[in-house]
This record gives sequence, structure tokens and C-alpha cells, in this order.
Amino acid sequence: MRSAWAEINLDAIRKNIKYLKSRTDPATKLMGVIKANAYGHGVIPVAQILREEGVSHFGVAIVEEGIELRQAGFHEPILILGKAFEEDYSLILQYNLMPTIFSMKQAVILNEVAGKANRKATIHIKIDTGMGRLGFMLKDDTIYQIAKIAALPNLRIEGIFSHFATSPQISDTTYCMGQFLKFIKLLEELERLGLRFPLRHLSNSGATILFPEMQLDMVRPGTSIFGLYPGPELEKMSEVTLYPAMEIKARLAYVKPCPAGTRVSYTGSFVTTHSSVLGIVPLGYVDGIFRNLANRGEVLLHGKRCSMVGNICMDQFVIDITHITNPIEGDEIVIVGRQGNEFISAEEIGEKAGTISIEVLCGLGKRMPLVYRNTLIV
Ligand SMILES: *Cc1c(COP(=O)(O)O)cnc(C)c1O
Repeated sequence: MRSAWAEINLDAIRKNIKYLKSRTDPATKLMGVIKANAYGHGVIPVAQILREEGVSHFGVAIVEEGIELRQAGFHEPILILGKAFEEDYSLILQYNLMPTIFSMKQAVILNEVAGKANRKATIHIKIDTGMGRLGFMLKDDTIYQIAKIAALPNLRIEGIFSHFATSPQISDTTYCMGQFLKFIKLLEELERLGLRFPLRHLSNSGATILFPEMQLDMVRPGTSIFGLYPGPELEKMSEVTLYPAMEIKARLAYVKPCPAGTRVSYTGSFVTTHSSVLGIVPLGYVDGIFRNLANRGEVLLHGKRCSMVGNICMDQFVIDITHITNPIEGDEIVIVGRQGNEFISAEEIGEKAGTISIEVLCGLGKRMPLVYRNTLIV
């Protein structure tokens, strides 16, 4: 029997894709961003569902993730969203992956490698409109650099894209709008040079949901596919309903009645004030339970919230189950998800741990076995 596991609800992913598609035109392509093992949800089963739901492209962070998809038999176009280093260009060609190109130097080297292999490399150009990360800076000569790349004989530019830094902020869309307008301006300047690339894209989850007018030829959601809200403001909008796809569960490892004054876990950061019952959960920080949840986090047992007490250990933590009637070793504990009428979201944990829901789920999905379900319990 497993002591802890992540349950992935594939129907939730289907519903989220259907919702995202309802926010875009039928002609707009959808790139499913499934970097980091599909945000911890397991890339191969997720990619299969996305394909069935009509997702045309996949986006990953690194070359290895693209190769994993190819080796599993996926033939869809795959964009490497991060930097692919020059020494990986031959692998990129071999596996027919698309690198993100944002300098002349990269383009020249890739053109050379492709020429030697007697191949054409398909690429997407990245523009930095305000994220301050990868991408051509917007300078006077940027369009001419792109024109030079477009003229390289062994490259085919399938797309040009940018990335939003702030799209989930509904209360102030100025920065986001500014990025969009800079991108559109650049595209217009390129068109004046006779350059128009098939796929122009910049919408992440937040923009896909909030700004259909920015969808252009393709959208690139990640977070929302997994039922996570790209920001607290979006979570509060009643018209936006996403279905969380991952639940984290464990079995109660030990039921431990103890007297008042019992020190709990390393450093004794918690001491029982009255006669209590403690429960041990077989998960710890190495499994993605953040140490700063100590004495703040909660889990569900018998449909009731129980506090995490004392420091989080490497593979265990302690909960106060004094208020639970007849707890039995082996009982199911929910760390993220629903039990009875109670629900603990990844967003809630993120808020308590001082991070975001994505980091919570990516961390939790790493060491536990992933179990797939198809039924939607809402
Ligand atoms: C991760 C990523 C996305 C997806 O963003 P979400 O906010 O998770 O929807 C889109 N584009 C790029 C370049 C990314 O790195």
C-alpha cells in the first residue's frame, strides 16, 4: 500500500482545455505548455489528453523534455521555450524540435549546423517586450536582425513570440497592454519589410483568459491547464472556473496520544498545551512540503482540518488530531484537494508558504507516485 501519492484527474484537464478553447477563436491554435513534467502532473499522460482535446503544439523548457515527448511517440510541433545551447543543435534537428532564437549568433550557428546536416531547422523568434528575460530587446535595428535571420537559407521561422510579465493583474492592465502594443508595433514594422511569420503568440494563461483580443495566432497556457489560477485576482472572478487536476494524499502513519507539555519534532517549536492526540504523516520537505508550513499549514482527516504542528522533517510531519473521532492508522489524509466538505487548494498552501500554487504542485509531484483518474468529482 502506498503511503503517499498524487492523484491526477485527467477529466479536470479536459475541462480546463475546453474552457480555454471557449476563450479563443476556433482558428487560434493552442500550445499546451507542459514544461517541468507538465507542472508536476506527468508529461506523457497529460500530453495524450491535450492531443485528444485538439492542442496543436507543445511547449517545454528544455531539450530533454522535447526528446522525452518524441520518444513517447508525439509528432506535434514542440517549442523549446528556454535557451537551447549550441551543443544541442544537432539533437534539436535529430528530434525535430524548435528552438527559441533571440540572437544573431544563435541563428548563424543553427543555420550552419542545419546546413551540414542537409536539413532546415524550424524556429520561433523571441522578443522581450518587458519581461526582462530571454528575447531580443526592442532596439532600432531589431527588425533588421530578424530580417537577416529570415534570410538564412537553412532556417524556417514558424513563429514569433513574446511573454507577459504581469498579465494576471486585472486591477492594472497598463503594463500588459504596453507589452502587447510593443509586440504589435514590431510585427507591423516587420510586415513593412515583407516579413510575416505564420504563428504570432504571446498569451500565457492569464492573458488567454482575460484578453481574448491578444490571442493572435496561438495562445500558450500552462498553469490554467492544470486548474491553477494564474493569480489571486483571477481566482476571485466568479465567471472563471478552473478544475484543479492534482490532489495530494497520504496515509496516517501513527496515532499518538500524549500528555500536555509534549515537545513536538525538531527544536520543539510546538509544545502541547493539553492532553492531545498527534498524527504522523509520512511526507516531508524532500517531498515538497515546505518547511515554513510548520505550525501554519493544515491537512484534512475525516473531512476536518488538522494543523501541522512542530517542524517539518525530511520525510515526515506531525499533525494535531485531538479533535478527530477514532482516527486509525492508515486513514486517508488530504494535503491538497477535497475531503468531505473541506477543500485545501494549492493556492491556499502557496499563500501560507509565501509562494505560488505552481511551485507547491511542481514540488509535491516530484517524489510521489502519480495515480491517474478519469472521473470528475466537483
Ligand atoms: C511557462 C510559460 C508559459 C505558460 O505560462 P502560464 O502562466 O503557466 O500559463 C507560456 N510561455 C512561456 C514562454 C513560458 O515560459
